[in-house]
Amino acid sequence: MSALTPISPIAFVSQAGASEVQQWISALQAAMPEERILPCEQLDADQLAQCRVAIVANPDPAQLKRMPNLLWVHSVWAGVERLVADLGQSDLQLTRLVDPRLAATMAEAVLAWTLYLHRDMPLYARRQREHHWEAQPYVLPEQRRVSLLGLGALGEAAAAALRQARFAVNGWSRSAREAEGVQTFHGPAGLAQMLAQTDILVCLLPLTAETRGLIDAAHLAMLPPQAQLINFARGPIIDDAALKAALDAGQLRHAVLDVFAVEPLPPAAWPWSHPAVTVLPHCSAPTDRQTASAIVAANIRRYRHSGEIAANVDLRRGY
Ligand code: NDP
Repeated sequence: MSALTPISPIAFVSQAGASEVQQWISALQAAMPEERILPCEQLDADQLAQCRVAIVANPDPAQLKRMPNLLWVHSVWAGVERLVADLGQSDLQLTRLVDPRLAATMAEAVLAWTLYLHRDMPLYARRQREHHWEAQPYVLPEQRRVSLLGLGALGEAAAAALRQARFAVNGWSRSAREAEGVQTFHGPAGLAQMLAQTDILVCLLPLTAETRGLIDAAHLAMLPPQAQLINFARGPIIDDAALKAALDAGQLRHAVLDVFAVEPLPPAAWPWSHPAVTVLPHCSAPTDRQTASAIVAANIRRYRHSGEIAANVDLRRGY
């Protein structure tokens, strides 16, 4: 089979509940009324064989294997580490969501929680509970060094929002990058240099073989005493035991954690009750169904007209 025929259905594959699947299909169908988008479970063997494109939101890999002629998997999520693991050995093309709306939402979250740490809100909340009246010395944002792990679609947007709020911004990536007003670093040596100049560390890296457990005891020890941490990327990038030890020792002042190795975070997990941790329920940057559907629709239309697949994930690199 060479290209899609206009009548070949597009499978929507997700482990989400029926109502969420329906909301996705409605939004996608509204964005591309010329297509037939159906839940994978409703397709018969002939239709499954016709499918060249699957749109996915955290899919069960077994469902993807039911489509023998599948060419292209388009995720409506930005993080695709599970798909990379599932599709790693295949010839499938993979597209992840890159959406300016998502980047703006994440930039807002990074700014909000940076300000929370910058203005010592966890400390004042505790002092109020203790009926304790005492002001901290004021620190200018220019004097607060905020370092971003990851300078991709989300990291760049976060850097711009932090710059706008007058923070001193550092950024770290795999390859050498430039971003206006940002002191940039790359590679392992660059990471060590950046960590030593960090008051608030913000994780916006993809979870890959290289980044799993990257922020371990040795890297946490490179941060100045009383540095703070925000993890909005994926839980396993930060070594859980090392993080707890650094917080227990007061070496790290506070951590804002939105993502965890197991989600929902189990009731007995230590971060819930740690006085130096703020737990968030993976809410920093939810996908916007309308803007995401418009992006998927534009990519699929391009493919229908030119055969070009907007793949943007390198399966070997892992992101
Ligand atoms: P991108 O792929 O656009 O950017 C990734 C950045 O990380 C790049 O700068 C890349 O470097 C860098 N990077 C990757 N591997 C390494 C490494 N080994 N060493 C150093 N730098 C590395 O991703 P996005 O910005 O779009 O998204 C980042 C992650 O955010 C997603 O993978 C997802 O897990 C998470 N996310 C979380 C959400 C939430 O609600 N909590 C919502 C959406 C996404 P280089 O520039 O050199 O390629």
